Amino acid sequence: MSTDPNNKNHDAKTKLVHLGRDTEDSKGFVNPPLYKGSTVLFPTVKSLSEGGYGYWYGRKGSPTYETLESSLNELEHADDTILTPSGLSAITTALLALLKTGDHLLVTDSVYQPTRNFCNTTLKGLGIDVTYYDPRIGADIENLIQKNTKIIFLESPGSQSFEIQDIPAICEKAKKANITTIIDNTWATPLYLQPLTIGVDVSIHSGTKYFIGHADAMIGTVSSNGETAEKIRQMAYSLGLCAGPDDVQLALRGLRSLGVRLEHHQKAAIELANWLEAQPEFECVLHPALPSHPDHELFKRDFKGSTGLFTAILKPADPAKVETMLNGLELFAMGWSWGGFESLALPFDPRSYRTTTSWDYKGQALRFHVGNENMDDLKADLTAGLKKL
Ligand SMILES: *Cc1c(COP(=O)(O)O)cnc(C)c1O
Repeated sequence: MSTDPNNKNHDAKTKLVHLGRDTEDSKGFVNPPLYKGSTVLFPTVKSLSEGGYGYWYGRKGSPTYETLESSLNELEHADDTILTPSGLSAITTALLALLKTGDHLLVTDSVYQPTRNFCNTTLKGLGIDVTYYDPRIGADIENLIQKNTKIIFLESPGSQSFEIQDIPAICEKAKKANITTIIDNTWATPLYLQPLTIGVDVSIHSGTKYFIGHADAMIGTVSSNGETAEKIRQMAYSLGLCAGPDDVQLALRGLRSLGVRLEHHQKAAIELANWLEAQPEFECVLHPALPSHPDHELFKRDFKGSTGLFTAILKPADPAKVETMLNGLELFAMGWSWGGFESLALPFDPRSYRTTTSWDYKGQALRFHVGNENMDDLKADLTAGLKKL
């Protein structure tokens, strides 16, 4: 069988099944072999100086690494992808690679909180200046660009507040000023947004979420082109970062079913979001694929689909009753992650860390991740919970 995964006519869902597989190389087995190891042996002194089989040392790459890296290159339309032990380390590596003392960085106010923490502590400590901007700023980002601005960091939608950013408008202003743009693309995955095709320079994933897809491992990826990609790979090497081979294999396995899993997450999350919108206990639902979302038109323009994570805001209610409701849910658990097979409902309040934009909702915000359970069971669980309000 010779399916060319680079066949441009194939849909991304088809590519996911075939990328990185070479049946001859794996002696007929469907999946590529797992290479684990530190030491790589060279048969002769000549081979040692010439680079042997093309591998050097465990930390510097292996056929297993390359299989996932090249798959992501294809999905993200990138020259190179590096793998890191977590999504956060993917973000911090990219920022460290592209910034130096005296530089200025623009970060969306909707950014994942640990990214903000890294900017406010490590980067500030290195003498790198950070400004947080309104995620809905669009082309007006121009007004915040300084002589020393080197990076604009985007996250769209924000993974709690779900603003959609005008990515092409921001990237156009960035390009004019020679600024590199980085996006945290975890929510959409490369199936539903390919940032490098609409002007972004670097696309980052917490593969911990949908790539792994089963809440049983952690991994991060950074995909980019040209000189930027070289700087990022160099930084990852210099920091000594490498993802565990078992986790790389789990991510690769996750990609095989990503297409069907996301189709389910998409459909189920939209159904639950619409249902919540109709419940009298809720003030509003923040889901970009719903026509009620303020950025719905931007979403439709740039994204090919939506995934399983969105937010719903309760009407003001007695906090003790909200607590009783959440404690009593049987199927929706509370946890600081998402992207697995399980449903989650997480109370959050971004007021303590947002600095540029306000969060004016009076009621409790709940972030939902819709998993693979039966929809009627999920609704019944929430119906029982809402009665406690
Ligand atoms: C979880 C998450 C991260 C961090 O990923 P880890 O693998 O947990 O380090 C980064 N960005 C977003 C949007 C996330 O949800």
